[in-house]
Amino acid sequence: MRPPTATLEAIKAYQQKVEKNKVHPDNLPPCPRCTIDSSFFKIHAYRERRFLIIIEMLIKAAFCTLVRFRCPGCGKTFTDYPDFAIPHKHYTRQSVMGFSANYLESDDTTYQQAVMVDNSAPGYPENDSTDAPTLAPTTIHRWITTLSRFTHTCRSALLLLLQEKPLSSICRDLAQVLIPQRKFKTRLREKQLIGCRQLLLIEAFFKATFKTSIFTKLATRCAFS
Ligand SMILES: [Zn+2]
Repeated sequence: MRPPTATLEAIKAYQQKVEKNKVHPDNLPPCPRCTIDSSFFKIHAYRERRFLIIIEMLIKAAFCTLVRFRCPGCGKTFTDYPDFAIPHKHYTRQSVMGFSANYLESDDTTYQQAVMVDNSAPGYPENDSTDAPTLAPTTIHRWITTLSRFTHTCRSALLLLLQEKPLSSICRDLAQVLIPQRKFKTRLREKQLIGCRQLLLIEAFFKATFKTSIFTKLATRCAFS
């Protein structure tokens, strides 16, 4: 099995788009302050970001430039996030969602098991200065918390799905999401686990219906909330 990760090729392809000036603000919503359409936004800044990807079970850094746009009306700025980026996360969205799914899609999986791919966890190169030698189980715990917070994105995706397929089983499937009691100690954590599992379900339905992910156009329009 291959570990879930964005590829170096995908990151390089986005970097080339940035360098050829082909990143446009069309994924962004209108300015929430002055309602100016995003097509009028101007490039404000380029920020280099470090992403962590997994190549042959080793965690490697890949750098990519993200583009920040500015609303000409009020000066508010907005970042365009490529398919592999989630705000404030160094690992790519594919890793964040994939390892979270590892944990949630089986009732017995522990966090220790969720970081494993074919009996080993992705490791940092030996000369790296990080504390942990491998991807840490607590990282998956935090990723699930992050993904459970995309409630606005989930609601918007669900509305689009039901408009497209009013007879879809999605609502029934979402209501049936249960988390075994050994996976949580508090109601808050149970809610987060259910929220994350529901996000993964909605994403699967969304992909099957619209042939595209809720990331990042829809999530961007919902301000990753
Ligand atoms: Zn504005």
